[in-house]
Amino acid sequence: MPTYIHWFRRDLRLHDNPALHAALARSAGQVIPLFILDDAILRAPDTAPARVAFLLDSLRALDQSLRARGSQLVLRRGPPAAVLADIAAQSGAAAVCFNRDYTPAAIARDADARAALEARGVAVHSFKEAVLVEPGELATKAGTPYKVYAPYRRRWQAYIDDQPPAEPAAPPPFAPLPAPIESLGLPSAADLGFAITQDLPPGGEQAGRARLDEFVRADNPLGIRDYPRGRERPALAATSRLSAYLRFGCVAPLACLRAAQRLIADPGDQTNQSAIDALQSAVEVWLGELAWRDFYYQILAQFPHVRDGAFKPQYDAIAWENSPEQFEAWRAGRTGYPIVDAAMRQLSREAWMHNRARMIVASFLTKDLLIDWRWGERHFMQQLADGDAASNNGGWQWAAGTGTDAQPYFRIFHPVSQGAKFDPRGEYVRRYVPELARVPDRYIHAPWTMPPDEQRRAGARIGHDYPQPIVDHAAQRSRGGGGAPRLRSAGRSAK
Ligand code: FAD
Repeated sequence: MPTYIHWFRRDLRLHDNPALHAALARSAGQVIPLFILDDAILRAPDTAPARVAFLLDSLRALDQSLRARGSQLVLRRGPPAAVLADIAAQSGAAAVCFNRDYTPAAIARDADARAALEARGVAVHSFKEAVLVEPGELATKAGTPYKVYAPYRRRWQAYIDDQPPAEPAAPPPFAPLPAPIESLGLPSAADLGFAITQDLPPGGEQAGRARLDEFVRADNPLGIRDYPRGRERPALAATSRLSAYLRFGCVAPLACLRAAQRLIADPGDQTNQSAIDALQSAVEVWLGELAWRDFYYQILAQFPHVRDGAFKPQYDAIAWENSPEQFEAWRAGRTGYPIVDAAMRQLSREAWMHNRARMIVASFLTKDLLIDWRWGERHFMQQLADGDAASNNGGWQWAAGTGTDAQPYFRIFHPVSQGAKFDPRGEYVRRYVPELARVPDRYIHAPWTMPPDEQRRAGARIGHDYPQPIVDHAAQRSRGGGGAPRLRSAGRSAK
């Protein structure tokens, strides 16, 4: 039987892994499970230490699962095309299998690898895995890629509903390799030059599956059942927290879909029809997030200019003010707006931020501080364990109003009313901004409005214990155009 190489990249699991399973099936188990540490990624300016740490932990877990099956992870470092060609030559492998990735850099890397391998007579097989619907799989009636989420979502749902329900797949068995393949030991993040300061969840397939199981448990009050309400409250752990696991493929999006479908088919002890309907619609809301994920992959793959510029190119001319001091205050969580500061401190403490909070801080950076969305996009990538080129770019352009959002530019979040609406008791703020722990609820989102004696009682003197707001929201709103962006070419109030 021929030897195959399975090239793991962002699919760090054994179950439901189409490329790995094909390699095992076609080689009667004689598969070299390979991961390549690529300096083009490790040394990129937007690589987050937290993401590297989560990746390494997931690789450790993957190696353990492979060893339990009589195999082991082969780890190499170098340019992927050269490493693959080298291992194929050493092992006499007939083919390489991998699951597709859709960022422009990954597409270019994979094309290089394919060319190097095919030139040596090694076959290359790639598979759909990281998404439920691939870029290019759906098109509008005119045959063009979707640019707006709502119609994409409708087609996406119909397409998903038409697919035969796939059964969960355990990997076929591994067979011993004819000769051992040299491997590096798994380094720590520190060995690779990264200092980790955040509290991270455990990486790997088992941890990811446990999180998914917990989230879809019918009787979990903070699970999928209550998602439509709970997901808007940053103080609650009411979202799946699967993003880093999905980012590294510790959990497959197909496993998420299947778990959600199973819950609808068997809703536990929910028997009355209205509870079943509510569960069904909660599942739909959650699946909508997986549709957003697919949507942003297809945007990045089909409109690669979004990597460096606005999806709507006219917004490349926005006259950003880009104050380095204000950017620093935003990054440090010292803007004087409690909901913004809590969110930015959550990011630095946990390498994760709640979705509502991501929208608020992104709106604040671009619409209140008038700082280029690309500065925020990069900072997020440098911090997030789930940092994902497509979703992050899509999220930032959505908030900045330069992207695919059907709303015009003037949707601007008010940082005080967003706080009052989504964190009414200030629990989220108090958790991450301890200076405000004793501020009464009615001042928690606008502490500068507290009378001086109240500030003293709360131990939160504004301008001393906690900053004054660094900008005035109403003034910045009109400075920024108040509805129409200021474009460089046409002066301050250009339409
Ligand atoms: P859940 O609410 O449980 O959603 C389930 C899954 O759906 C998520 O794990 C994620 O994979 C996907 N998802 C959810 N919301 C979105 C969305 N709006 N767009 C795309 N996919 C979504 N998500 C990332 O995975 N990586 C990023 O780098 C990222 N950057 C963002 C930047 C900004 C400015 C904004 C507004 C959003 C960003 N998101 C990003 C989307 C979203 O905030 C996170 O996916 C979500 O907070 C992760 O938490 P969860 O796993 O509990 O999500």
